[in-house]
Amino acid sequence: NHDFDVISAARNWRVDASAPATPAQVVGELFASDVLTLEQLKTRLSKPDYRSLRATVERGARLDPAIADTVALAMKTWAMEKGATHYTHWFQPLTGSTAEKHDSFVSPNGDGLAIATFSGKELIQAEPDASSFPSGGLRATFEARGYTAWDSSSPAFLIRHANGATLCIPTAFASWTGEALDLKTPLLRSVEALNQAVTPALRLFGASAGTRVGSSLGAEQEYFLIAEEYFFRRPDLVMTGRTLFGARPPRGQELEDHYFGAIPDRVLSFMTDAEMQLYALGIPVKTRHNEVAPGQFEIAPIYESSNVAADHQQLIMQVLRNTARKYGLVALLHEKPFAGVNGSGKHCNWSMATDAGENLLEPGDTPHENLQFLFFCAAVIRAVDEHQDLLRISVAGASNDHRLGANEAPPAILSIFLGSELTDILDRLESGRGGRGPEAGLLGLGSSVLPPIPRHAGDRNRTSPFAFTGNKFEFRAVGSSQSISFPVTVLNTIIADAVQALTADLQTRLDAGADLDDAVGEIVRETYAAHKRVVFNGDGYSEDWHHEAEHGRGLLNLRTSLDAIPLLTSPKNAALFERFGVLTGRELTARQEIMYDIYFKTVNIEGETTEYVAQTMILPAAVRYLGDLRQAGAGRAVQGLAAQVEAAADALYDALLHLGEQNRALGGDEVHEKAHHMRDHVLPAMTEVRQAADALEKVVADLHWPLPSYRQMLFVK
Ligand code: ADP
Ligand code: MG
Repeated sequence: NHDFDVISAARNWRVDASAPATPAQVVGELFASDVLTLEQLKTRLSKPDYRSLRATVERGARLDPAIADTVALAMKTWAMEKGATHYTHWFQPLTGSTAEKHDSFVSPNGDGLAIATFSGKELIQAEPDASSFPSGGLRATFEARGYTAWDSSSPAFLIRHANGATLCIPTAFASWTGEALDLKTPLLRSVEALNQAVTPALRLFGASAGTRVGSSLGAEQEYFLIAEEYFFRRPDLVMTGRTLFGARPPRGQELEDHYFGAIPDRVLSFMTDAEMQLYALGIPVKTRHNEVAPGQFEIAPIYESSNVAADHQQLIMQVLRNTARKYGLVALLHEKPFAGVNGSGKHCNWSMATDAGENLLEPGDTPHENLQFLFFCAAVIRAVDEHQDLLRISVAGASNDHRLGANEAPPAILSIFLGSELTDILDRLESGRGGRGPEAGLLGLGSSVLPPIPRHAGDRNRTSPFAFTGNKFEFRAVGSSQSISFPVTVLNTIIADAVQALTADLQTRLDAGADLDDAVGEIVRETYAAHKRVVFNGDGYSEDWHHEAEHGRGLLNLRTSLDAIPLLTSPKNAALFERFGVLTGRELTARQEIMYDIYFKTVNIEGETTEYVAQTMILPAAVRYLGDLRQAGAGRAVQGLAAQVEAAADALYDALLHLGEQNRALGGDEVHEKAHHMRDHVLPAMTEVRQAADALEKVVADLHWPLPSYRQMLFVK
């Protein structure tokens, strides 16, 4: 019989005894209670020290060593009062996840244990023995020890567990030669690049000299939940995060009854628990709902500055994973855990705003605001067209390849959905309809303000990888398991690039005596004309679009990650990152190397796991069943079944031999050769094995089948 029990899978959860917080408690006590905010520090520091710290935080500068010890002491006291026993520099190595190495606040002295000091030095900088993180050749082994440095622009926080808590200090991670070994450093640099590029433009529009600009980011996280009982019975899920086997169940998502449906009690309890923890971490979670596939859900916070949003996004993934276990569930964040139903993405809603809170992508109420809005929109259109490759690369990875271009996720072709209203405005502007001059109103559109651009139009296009949604752009190709840092770094940088170019153009025209309105009008018109090939409001999933995009419009169609990754270090891209000080040539090459390496290893593990499960679990099940049948006599049904099973098992055996050969061959010594071998030989061989195994699943007696089925995993709640 099965080793697993469906009923216990369904029943294996308990309600957490701790009473859920009420809205008043959330607002009054819970929110950010585990975050060391500036207000907290204010009460613990002298006035001059606090002022100095605040200046550091606001400028993102290095902490004044003179106050470092005092700040460290205040942090330690706060953390220990809150129950922390340890502290860690918390960083984001190039693996895409987070890393931490805990040090105790307690240490042995001559007479036993004592409360240790936590010095300013330890706060500002640490040297984790982190030689095993990928560096893409940036570190030779003799200088392998990178160091972490406090990012004071993202507040410290506590991670709680059943027996205490750890003070986490967000840090950047770099090599001793100063090269970035993490995802945070280039993100911070790109925010500064955006600021440097956009503020001169704003000044031409009349902004005051001190204005600063940053990017805002709100990420919608999709994920699956399955019963823990099933998860641990599936070596493929445990090893790779996705199912490498599984026949289609009779029912998938075709009834469309799950999307936005009532959330099951068990799931809702889990969600609420996770949200309370996220509130304590100061993460402004806002929405939750069922997603399209059975067993699929979504959580989304309100947007924040992109650096903080990226840290918070990592914490959201961590809290979802940890909390699910309390409810007998496992949260699957993989882009494609199940074949045949929707995959999971992480829509990144991006905009840029001034430090006074003015959203630069918000169409305004006055002609002046509208002019500025159209200018920045034009810059985004230009950026996406010129850097389609970079956007595609920023979401590349073996797991997202299963999702992009499949029939329920944006294609791998980058285009922008603008909606009919904005497209109409730009089309009219381009064709010069409506005359010119002050009487004709804004840019000759015949009116002095833009017609309203709906933010929540009912017909919002879900098939576009990059959509204007009223006051922000939504980058939908980002994968659910990915860190958002690199996609956001790319967005910040390419838009900085486009804004800078358009601003130089504008300055030239103004110097030549042009009127601001006319000059901006011309620039928007010309930019749109030059780049509108990337604007597409139709069905991004359709065959026609793929043909038109590639052949009619000359857009890039980088179908797989390995088609995209080589372009990362192209002269255009290397020059772009270098010019904005976001990534040096060496840092970029290192990242490319790591992308190949992670791709190779991911598929390699999948190939080995497929072979292992087929060989040691699935084929033996078929053989056992055949044994049963052979003992069952010579009736027609028995013989027919045996013939079916035998044929299917033989097919699996042949496919398995082929996969074994491909798993043994590596395709070359260079990492990109190995990666190509994985894509071109291992993945197809895995598909053959899977097809044979899935066919077998449909003929072998259920009680012999060794793996929980799709039918069970997706529908037992
Ligand atoms: P949707 O209809 O796509 O769910 P929402 O308005 O609910 O759109 O927003 C989805 C995400 O976009 C949320 O995280 C939200 O905070 C974020 N968002 C809204 N406005 C902005 C903005 N100006 N910049 C960045 N993100 C934003
Ligand atoms: Mg969504």
